[in-house]
Amino acid sequence: MRRLRLRQPGRGSVPGASQQCCECGYTDIRDRALQARFRCRSCGVVAHADLNASRNIARKGDVAWAAGRESRVPVTSRR
Ligand SMILES: [Zn+2]
Repeated sequence: MRRLRLRQPGRGSVPGASQQCCECGYTDIRDRALQARFRCRSCGVVAHADLNASRNIARKGDVAWAAGRESRVPVTSRR
């Protein structure tokens, strides 16, 4: 059995991150026609595609991290 591929060809590790605007969250796969540049059709922001994607990934990471932290069982003082 082969090892799981961490990345699919032509895509980042987080699906959709490279198609989503880092400013307003608008997503359009057609925006990746130019691979090196992301242009939002909603708010018009222009950013480097990788930078835009990294911002989205960082934001997702923050949400996941915060959600995981908040879901912890409250510390009990009794023991
Ligand atoms: Zn936008």
